Amino acid sequence: MTHTATQPTYADVEAAARRITGTVHRTPVLRSRRIDAGLGLEVHFKAEHLQRMGAFKFRGAFNALARFDARQRAAGVVAYSSGNHAQAIALAARELGIAAMIVMPLDAPASKVAATRAYGAEVVTYDRYSEDREAIGRAIANERGLTLIPPYDHPDVIAGQGTAARELIEDVGPLEAIFAPLGGGGLLAGTALAANALTPDTRIYGVEPEAGNDGQQSFRSGRIVHIETPRTLADGAQTLHLGELTFPIIQRHVSDILTVSDAELVDAMRLLASTMKQVVEPTGALAFAGLRKTAGELAGNRTGVIISGGNIDLPRFAALIA
Ligand SMILES: *Cc1c(COP(=O)(O)O)cnc(C)c1O
Repeated sequence: MTHTATQPTYADVEAAARRITGTVHRTPVLRSRRIDAGLGLEVHFKAEHLQRMGAFKFRGAFNALARFDARQRAAGVVAYSSGNHAQAIALAARELGIAAMIVMPLDAPASKVAATRAYGAEVVTYDRYSEDREAIGRAIANERGLTLIPPYDHPDVIAGQGTAARELIEDVGPLEAIFAPLGGGGLLAGTALAANALTPDTRIYGVEPEAGNDGQQSFRSGRIVHIETPRTLADGAQTLHLGELTFPIIQRHVSDILTVSDAELVDAMRLLASTMKQVVEPTGALAFAGLRKTAGELAGNRTGVIISGGNIDLPRFAALIA
């Protein structure tokens, strides 16, 4: 990495918020009386599935690319991703007039590959069950002088992701608990930085797929646990380990890491569709599914849930919720 990997702070989240204004959507906060009544608490949904390119990842990607110097801009960016980070880097690069090359798994959802190409990026594919995407990304970066922007373990990415929770708290005031999905921890770490600075009493929960609970294992054991590629519907959280930058922030500020099954994810997606008419991808429903499991302990609380993304092929969405 050409970047010095210093730990981001809340000041970096504030700087990111200024940098992304005018390009990244300030997404709405959604409410549902039926969901509140059903759970016995208040839920404030930060609707990042309505973000540009369909997920919060545009925040971190745009923040990182906006900080490139002239040489980096001229040479271009390379990224590896199962989907949303790819689209985010592709769109941010297009916005800033930077060339982008994206390393994507062969079995990535068709809509994500197509969208990445449509944003003007060059796509290189690999087999996620046998090849190492980080090594492929690093090799391309070295050979061609491109800057590698990883999907979560980068200070500018973490700071950018933290702007979602910052907006949520600005818009609705202090919350007793905030739930965020957990893959590599960029969103959860950014959320933790923002909430801890603005409302230090807020409890922060990360939610990851049961089949890939490396985050929970790491949180409990105090060291970064590595796992094999988990088989889960939540393709945006199929990460193998937390980051060197994200893990210490999560350890310091997060209350707990919860897990949910694929069936619980689909159930949460169905409820968001039937009650609120929202199309949310499986990974995007992680935080809400985690809140539903914990609702009993949070009776009467004001809670926040980050709906992180909505990129799913409609036939697949229909088949899942049918
Ligand atoms: C990437 C992603 C996540 C996980 O984010 P991390 O920063 O890797 O923890 C969650 N939801 C969606 C929709 C994503 O694209």
